[in-house]
Amino acid sequence: MVKVQVVKQKAKEGLFSSTQAIIQEAIQSLGYDSSMYELLKEPLKMLTVRIPVKMDDGSTQIFTGYRAQHNDAVGPTKGGVRFHPDVTEEEVKTLSMWMTIKCGIFNLPYGGGKGGIICDPRKMSMLELERLSRGYVRAISQIVGPTKDIPAPDMFTNPQVMAWMMDEYSSIQEFDSPGFITGKPIVLGGSKGRETATAAGVTICIEEAAKRRGLDLKEARIIIQGFGNAGSFLSKFLYDAGAKIIGVSDVGGALYDPKGLDIPYLLERRDSFGMITNLFENVLTNEELLEKECDVLVPAAISNQITEQNAEHIQADIIVEAANGPTTQKATEILTKRNKLIVPDVLASSGGVTVSYFEWVQNNQGYYWTEEEVAQKLRYKIKESFEQIAHTSETRGIDMRLAAYIVGIGRAAEASMFRGWV
Ligand code: NAD
Repeated sequence: MVKVQVVKQKAKEGLFSSTQAIIQEAIQSLGYDSSMYELLKEPLKMLTVRIPVKMDDGSTQIFTGYRAQHNDAVGPTKGGVRFHPDVTEEEVKTLSMWMTIKCGIFNLPYGGGKGGIICDPRKMSMLELERLSRGYVRAISQIVGPTKDIPAPDMFTNPQVMAWMMDEYSSIQEFDSPGFITGKPIVLGGSKGRETATAAGVTICIEEAAKRRGLDLKEARIIIQGFGNAGSFLSKFLYDAGAKIIGVSDVGGALYDPKGLDIPYLLERRDSFGMITNLFENVLTNEELLEKECDVLVPAAISNQITEQNAEHIQADIIVEAANGPTTQKATEILTKRNKLIVPDVLASSGGVTVSYFEWVQNNQGYYWTEEEVAQKLRYKIKESFEQIAHTSETRGIDMRLAAYIVGIGRAAEASMFRGWV
């Protein structure tokens, strides 16, 4: 167990340092000097909190939580709160830096933030989760708020957790504060289309990438790793669009059929944690699935899945990253040399933060949009950002990841410069 934890910790440190390396390259290619990199190489603010929670058996447990605010030159910071036993300080910092890049790419008036609590919500009762959520908000309340730092859901947090957090913040402030947090239930000011926003954004990126590679989506053979929120809605959208989903996977293994899987059947039977392979015998491994022949590969599960060990064996022509950090930098270099088109996570998985921004705008206006309006605005934003990054990549002769970092970090750098911080 201890060994596994050390390996996971190392993998997360790897993500932090490789993120710093790409930020440094982006800052240099934008012509800023090293002080700009010094400013942006890690969060401006990192708060660690210890949260005492009364458990149902009468004992008290102390949980450790974090809130990172990477850079607030453009506007208030924004980013989800993750509840997971493997949360680390390094991971929360890295995720907050990715949020700055995502907000920059989509021209959202935010910098990046992120939060996390080390806990296992699968082993906690609803009442314990509520006390933990409220305790976290009390602990971080001084540094968050609708014009300071706006949380949202992330791994193992959902609209119910957002509702408790919003209620706690509102009672501390003594006024109703729907704009404090996004991803809320619709009745409390949530936005239509928020639940499916990440998958909708990935779908639009796949359409754009397919156009660039002359691939007709109706002819496309697609493999999706992960069958959770992102992977399952994505498989539905692509199946409905006429594509052939030939492989899907979860933590237990992978299903594969070159003739195409029966996605509606699988969607009906998956559980709420995104498990489906436990209902089948003789499943493939995730490693085997990633190397199968297909046109589009979508990692939509966890980080570090495409590495220098398997990058030479990936057969897909297009890789669209729905997960955060699924491809290492070494693997990106190998795939780019092999002329594969990689649509990076900071672009492809940003449908969620974009609709979170729409939710905050609607909260501030007190006026709510229809599902069609949300979908239309999301499509516009994703297409616009995709085109800008593809253009930057083509004109500079660089891969789309570096292009995305140049565009994304460029806004935080420019705002920091105008403010006179550097
Ligand atoms: P989820 O928890 O709903 O589902 C995760 C899926 O991945 C499940 O099917 C699970 O079985 C599978 N999985 C877990 N560990 C695995 C492993 N070791 N190997 C293979 N499969 C594994 O999560 P989600 O919300 O769908 O998020 C998936 C990825 O997308 C994450 O990297 C997340 O950070 C990223 N993402 C999600 C959103 C969102 O709105 N849901 C937004 C941006 C990025």
